[in-house]
Amino acid sequence: MNKEAYAELMNELKDKNVTLVAVSKTKPAEDIFELYKLGQKDFGENYGQELLDKYLKLPPDICWHFIGHLQTNKVKFIIPFVHLIHGVDSYKLLSEINKQAQKINRVINCLLQVHIAQEETKFGFDEKELDEAINQLINAPMENINVTGLMGMASFTDDMNKVRSEFKYLKSLFDKYAQLQTANCKLQTLSMGMSSDYKIAIEEGSNMIRIGSLLFGERV
Ligand SMILES: *Cc1c(COP(=O)(O)O)cnc(C)c1O
Repeated sequence: MNKEAYAELMNELKDKNVTLVAVSKTKPAEDIFELYKLGQKDFGENYGQELLDKYLKLPPDICWHFIGHLQTNKVKFIIPFVHLIHGVDSYKLLSEINKQAQKINRVINCLLQVHIAQEETKFGFDEKELDEAINQLINAPMENINVTGLMGMASFTDDMNKVRSEFKYLKSLFDKYAQLQTANCKLQTLSMGMSSDYKIAIEEGSNMIRIGSLLFGERV
């Protein structure tokens, strides 16, 4: 865990309204605890089982973000404690989260993931699907779901102009739907930016960044 990088990042975010989610996937619980002791409370994980194991080992006041691609059969493992699910990319997944949350009487905060990169491999709604999902939610509200924002990942490229234009595009969708403010669809959070592109993401209006390798080192 890189204490200097953390201090530098916190200093950079000091006067900004941006939440740092420390992405700890594949890293041991000890590394997370080191960062926790410095005051970091928001951590992000990509895999259901790994998240559950770490949740059971680490202090209860950590806010756990699920940032990966969530399979419907893994939803029930994280519903009891998850703070925010970033990668909701289908109406079916939203229904499953609602169903599992209902069983234990929780309301789960979710971000809808939008496909903004050109790569085929990145998940998410396209603009039309996003519109449909939001309209479905408005017409038939799910009692145990709060859609609180959008999430996106830019293309993996050195072309920072491309990255910037993808972030700009996501911000424009965010602004459009943020005006709706219905009972369980109130967009406040725009989760965009990772180690390599968070500065651009913040310039383009991100208020939640997900940083892994910069803090914890490269993953194997
Ligand atoms: C792994 C991951 C991150 C962190 O990536 P870094 O480049 O290590 O900062 C952020 N968001 C998502 C969705 C991820 O899967």
